[in-house]
Amino acid sequence: MTEKADNLANRCLKCGFCVNQCPVYRELKDETYSPRAKLRLIKAYRDGTLKDDRTLRKVIANCLMCEACYKNCPGGLQTSDAIAEMRVEFRDKYGLDWKKKLLRAALGDKRLRKLSAYWARLVYNNFISNIPMPLDIPAGALSLKNIPRLNKALSNRAAGGERKKKAFFFVGCVDRFMFSKTAEAIVKVLNATGYDVEISPEERCCGMPMMISGDSAALGKSARINIDLMASGNYDAIVSGCPTCIVALKQKYAGIVKGDAEYEEKLKKIAPLMSDFTELVARNIKDLPALKEIKAEVTYHDPCHLINSLGIFSEPRKLILATPGVEFRELPGGPSCCGSGGFYHVYFPELAAKIGKKKADSIKKTQAGITLTACPACKLQLINFTRSAKIKTEVKHIAEFLSERL
Ligand code: SF4
Ligand code: SF4
Repeated sequence: MTEKADNLANRCLKCGFCVNQCPVYRELKDETYSPRAKLRLIKAYRDGTLKDDRTLRKVIANCLMCEACYKNCPGGLQTSDAIAEMRVEFRDKYGLDWKKKLLRAALGDKRLRKLSAYWARLVYNNFISNIPMPLDIPAGALSLKNIPRLNKALSNRAAGGERKKKAFFFVGCVDRFMFSKTAEAIVKVLNATGYDVEISPEERCCGMPMMISGDSAALGKSARINIDLMASGNYDAIVSGCPTCIVALKQKYAGIVKGDAEYEEKLKKIAPLMSDFTELVARNIKDLPALKEIKAEVTYHDPCHLINSLGIFSEPRKLILATPGVEFRELPGGPSCCGSGGFYHVYFPELAAKIGKKKADSIKKTQAGITLTACPACKLQLINFTRSAKIKTEVKHIAEFLSERL
């Protein structure tokens, strides 16, 4: 954490610029769930004036960690850090529920993560996805019949060669085990942009799912393994196609290794090399070969961690507009959360679905045949809700779109 929760709460001006930007508030229209009220409740709890913590626990749990409040706060208050800190405090006080324990077990251990992904793929691809499902069987806010077949896990060979620059590709759990075609597309585009690409079988989960569950205590070891991997190769760039991974590595790991001089130093050296995929490719766009023309209407969904936490807005648009023949159509209403929010849709499926349906509606209004995004979790959410609404649009990660045009 960069700033203590009570400091953040004390600095809040109560101006309310964050309130209408919060997707949870927009759905519930209840001030108690606004970022401003969350900070006030945290302050009251820390001051000792809030004796019963039930309301605070409820509102702290109901947050997508989208950082729209941070982006729109004149004081730059990172309310999600205060929320994450309170989740840690409540984890210590009340323990983790079984879903979070399962999450920690499945993602926290390298072998178990691989095994869980293997079984999920085997069962889903061979049984569940083959059964014609007239009914919507829910998986959180998602519906099983809308989830695409899972790709086989990414091979640990990436493309190296004689190129001038070398990038470490932090793949992330979803692209490594579910959407490895996206990961392959990322390697192809980076190669075309002049980077040899290395990946590592030793890569661990970035830890963000555990951090936002209040379970960051479990992350010390895996964060250090990831830092060692990235610090060991004399890389020109460290890149991921998952903005949430980059936020974890670049912004949140500092709090995890705080006080450990060796790892603070390593992180200080590698943090400036870290970029989201769209940021790195847009920065090197002059090295990207001419893209093949496509006559298509294309729209783009901004992932929250990319636009709000990393401030990346123009780069993905620059890449889309570099493709000849594209007619680019912005989503009406501007950037907004799709409702995925890590495991939010598991805990709050109705709200996540309401937010997801609104996003699908806005995609429909563009009449775009292709919907791009830059985050694997957003991609899954958009596939689900556009399929549910029978919207004729193909949802892809921007790396897939670019690699098809090479
Ligand atoms: S992080 Fe997002 S969901 Fe959470 S309080 Fe801020 S705006 Fe609302
Ligand atoms: S925008 Fe920032 S300062 Fe204003 S109420 Fe929200 S958190 Fe407080």
